[in-house]
Amino acid sequence: MSFIEEEAPGAIYGIERWGEGRFTVLDNGNIGLITNHEKGEATTDLTSILHSLEERGIASPILLRVANSLKNQIERINNSFRTAINELEYKNDYRGVFPVKVNQQAHVIEKIVEYGSPHHFGLEVGSKPELIIALGQRLSREALLICNGIKDSEFINLALLSNNLGFNTIIVLESTSELDLVLEQSKKLNIRPQLGIRIKLNNRITGNWASSSGDRSAFGLSAPDVLHVIDRLRDEGFLDCLQLQHFHLGSQVPDILDVRRSTAEACRFFVELRKEGAPLSYIDLGGGLGIDYTGEHKSTENSINYTIDEYCWNIVEAVKNTMDDAGETHPTIVTESGRATVAYSSMLLFNILDVTHFDEADDVEVTDDDSRSLRDMRDVENYLTASRLQECLNDVTFYRDEVRRNFGRGEVGLRDLAKAEKLYLNLINRMRKAAETDEWISEDVLTALDSTADIYHANFSLFQSLPDVWAIDQLHPIIPIQRLNETPTRRAILSDITCDSDGKVDRFVLTDGISQSLPVHELSKDEQYYLAVFFVGAYQETLGDLHNLFGDTNVATIEIADSGDFNLIHEVEGDTIAEVLRYVEYDPLALSNNFKAMVEEAVSRKALTLKERKTMMNAFKESLNGYTYFEH
Ligand SMILES: *Cc1c(COP(=O)(O)O)cnc(C)c1O
Repeated sequence: MSFIEEEAPGAIYGIERWGEGRFTVLDNGNIGLITNHEKGEATTDLTSILHSLEERGIASPILLRVANSLKNQIERINNSFRTAINELEYKNDYRGVFPVKVNQQAHVIEKIVEYGSPHHFGLEVGSKPELIIALGQRLSREALLICNGIKDSEFINLALLSNNLGFNTIIVLESTSELDLVLEQSKKLNIRPQLGIRIKLNNRITGNWASSSGDRSAFGLSAPDVLHVIDRLRDEGFLDCLQLQHFHLGSQVPDILDVRRSTAEACRFFVELRKEGAPLSYIDLGGGLGIDYTGEHKSTENSINYTIDEYCWNIVEAVKNTMDDAGETHPTIVTESGRATVAYSSMLLFNILDVTHFDEADDVEVTDDDSRSLRDMRDVENYLTASRLQECLNDVTFYRDEVRRNFGRGEVGLRDLAKAEKLYLNLINRMRKAAETDEWISEDVLTALDSTADIYHANFSLFQSLPDVWAIDQLHPIIPIQRLNETPTRRAILSDITCDSDGKVDRFVLTDGISQSLPVHELSKDEQYYLAVFFVGAYQETLGDLHNLFGDTNVATIEIADSGDFNLIHEVEGDTIAEVLRYVEYDPLALSNNFKAMVEEAVSRKALTLKERKTMMNAFKESLNGYTYFEH
């Protein structure tokens, strides 16, 4: 809770740790984006980018995509694999694919295909709509198009036909029943398919996606099923079509040892399948390459204990060793890194609308005429020291609750209740000061004392823009993007604009670890206060929902030039109210006509003047065509 005075005020946010050189605090206190951070190139003022977008009429909340980050990351993954391959003298290549489900947005996919093309970076699809997306892209012939997921004959049909057009499409068998469909369609179309087989590994990973690995995982074939598929393919004369072996451990694998163990286990299957006569040439290790959201560099849900270089090195080495031991040639290594490809490239920017304080109020005078609970509560002051904080906390909470109960029973009035609430806050605030000591104070007490942190009301919807924060307690770095040269004097949690009590953020990544509140600055009257949530490019966009009918935010894609200036290369306007109403099957025109009829009736009753009618209809239409978020 105590701020370290010697360090720069911005240092508490841990920007260096989780930012890994992507961000810096500029002299003016704004956050700077470092493009091409590995070479330490141009720094651009994020706050001025935001102002300049707002001046163009693109209002907050804004999802800002930085195209350069996407390009960097695609290069990073490909180069790391190629470096490991060269240094370990691995005798084959790497072919990455981007899993479309991680971010299906047209402009993102288009950029991934463009930036990926020099590396023959392909796509992975898990459904028919995603296959259609992939088939609408000009992938190079060298790039793979991998079809996972549960497939019907229509899906299989299209995937098979795409091979004739020059796509390098591989149909991965997820179940034994899929095999029948594939054989049937291939014979009917007289096309030799390129097939893959998804295996289920025994090795289980830790982290949020533990259940998608191991025996009970919903996907992949068990050893007996694998053999069944091999035998069937051999009997039907299709064994030579089996090109790829696939597995996917789950996302955000926290521990590099899991990567190594699973790769080794997958290689054993691979060697055995080749012995069975399958001419496998690709080993596909799925996704799982994680992001260090907290910068802790450890094996926990929101962190990882490895770098991209290590990840690539471990995979290449594990494949090489197993293949060499078995006397097998080296296959092409395929990975399906989604999160690690796109997470860095997007951030959510929003302004703070209002604040609720829980500060110490003016002194509360408790006299002998007051109720016993109130007097007892006042007396806690007499033993309020750091060593007795737990006891004080228990006592004040008990007495406060007693007054609340008495109020409920009609035994005390509103003035007494207000007195108790005020006194409670004062005492909690005094305890918070007492906690700023060298003495050890339990985490529980600190958390309870943090309950007086401010609530900063923020202009975004958690459900629309950060669904994983709500659903799986995902952590993202969140920081103010201005005044970082000023010591933040307040502590806050964030409350979003929905009226759902779950719409809040109360875990934050700081230098000292995970905190229940975020250090923020006092709001100023003349200036908007903006926060940024980083690394939101993976999964968040399509998982988001329309809770309270807050729709898609405005999206701006920028490209930063070598000079540090930026170009707005693409803009998508956020949903209007009329658009979100259509999603839930309203007809905005019909709503407007109903409203107009009511207004007209009021005019006939002489309850509204003609001028009032006009104002009323204009207000309705303006809202209907406006942004779903708070506009200023
Ligand atoms: C979701 C998914 C991925 C992407 O995983 P990341 O951890 O985001 O890299 C890759 N492959 C398959 C089969 C998936 O279902």
